[in-house]
Amino acid sequence: MGDTGTSWGGYPRASQRVSILNDRDAPLPPFEGRALPYGNGRSYGDSCLNDGGTLLHAAGLDRYIRFDEATGVLECEAGLSLAEIVAGMLPRGWFLPVTPGTQHVTVGGAIANDVHGKNHHHHGSFGEHVLELELLRSDGSRRVCGPGQEPEWFAATLGGLGLTGVVTRARLQLRRVPGPWVQATTRRFADLGEFFALSEATSADEYSVAWVDCLASGKQLGRGVFTHANHVAATATARPARPRLAFPFTPPFSLVNPLSLRLFNQLYYRRSPAVPRTSVGHFAPFFYPLDAIGHWNRMYGPRGLLQYQCVVPPEVAAPAISEILQRIASHGSGSFLAVLKKFGSRRSAGMLSFPRPGTTLALDFPNRGATTLRLLDELDRVVMQARGAVYPAKDARMSAAMFAVSFPRLPEFLPYVDPRFSSGLWRRVMVSG
Ligand SMILES: Cc1cc2nc3c(=O)[nH]c(=O)nc-3n(C[C@H](O)[C@H](O)[C@H](O)COP(=O)(O)OP(=O)(O)OC[C@H]3O[C@@H](n4cnc5c(N)ncnc54)[C@H](O)[C@@H]3O)c2cc1C
Repeated sequence: MGDTGTSWGGYPRASQRVSILNDRDAPLPPFEGRALPYGNGRSYGDSCLNDGGTLLHAAGLDRYIRFDEATGVLECEAGLSLAEIVAGMLPRGWFLPVTPGTQHVTVGGAIANDVHGKNHHHHGSFGEHVLELELLRSDGSRRVCGPGQEPEWFAATLGGLGLTGVVTRARLQLRRVPGPWVQATTRRFADLGEFFALSEATSADEYSVAWVDCLASGKQLGRGVFTHANHVAATATARPARPRLAFPFTPPFSLVNPLSLRLFNQLYYRRSPAVPRTSVGHFAPFFYPLDAIGHWNRMYGPRGLLQYQCVVPPEVAAPAISEILQRIASHGSGSFLAVLKKFGSRRSAGMLSFPRPGTTLALDFPNRGATTLRLLDELDRVVMQARGAVYPAKDARMSAAMFAVSFPRLPEFLPYVDPRFSSGLWRRVMVSG
């Protein structure tokens, strides 16, 4: 079995044959056992892995098909990355309506996880802007679907974890922007109450997101730094983009430990402005701060990291997030990459879409084996009680029970699964996957 295909967290490891797809009109290459489409492997856990099977790597499906400059409708192949779309379309005044925290994901991956960004409260999730897609199934059949055409296939494929077939191409509605500049206002907040108040007070702004100090406890529990922003036209004071650095190698142990974390969090919080500070900067550091450091995942060492992202409903968000943060702080784990965001009230069409009304928390944990897994199980119990959800794109360990609570439309989804497709995550969360 040839390696590879990895996921961003480096956990778990999997070995699988990789078949590269180059021609969107060709049938799928022959494969034994189960197959899974693969984009750029920017999912953290095992939703993009298929140990013992085949990955159908969309890397060669990377062409633009057509672009209507008047309407902003782009048709492209599914292996094209969001970075390529931004590079090609922004100079023409068009941008992604929704973008995740890295631009190195493919259109197919963005559809299969129905990804969200910092503007969920304005623009919903990625799938809301997909007008049409083509799905290639293992029996060779093709389905063209969209919100108004075979909508049930569309709803199954949006957030469908690559299990309904290979998306070969898609038609996307881009949005107009005045240029590459973003005006952002940042200030720190003392606790969760202030976070919710700020989210409310700034909801007219398109983007909002917060960093949260996951080690703070007691009166400081839930303190962090809040940013809200909008696209703006160029100004004389705009800051240019910084050059890209790269993490050159994987150190033999994780550089993220309780000491480095406590130090970083204290410093970051204290150095952030106590009163709102506004500046205009290039879009890249605002949307993709982590992309500025290539291979930053290597700092977690050879055992990798587990990322945890959950969403809890609005009516229980404050107590549930507070309990989750308390458990993380008392465990002394977590990372400085901890993000808190209030989703808007828009519901995605996707049967298994993760974004939904509520508050979402995402953070990384260095993989310390059973200790880390036990903590994440504890967090699951809080999320389950809150009737919330855990995000499969970030997951490598959730149970079948947690998956079922997260995705109540699972029974409706099952008939659309391609019988020859599967993934590590799918086998774990299904009794028979
Ligand atoms: C630094 C960082 C920040 C991130 N920030 C966010 C964020 O803000 N919001 C968010 O929602 N996510 C975020 N993510 C997660 C990421 O956006 C998703 O995991 C995304 O799906 C990865 O896309 P990919 O192209 O790398 O696909 P992969 O990770 O390779 O695959 C993801 C899924 O897509 C399926 N798939 C891939 N290509 C196709 C295809 N052509 N047809 C059918 N199925 C396909 C796979 O089978 C798999 O189930 C982040 C990830 C990183 C590393």
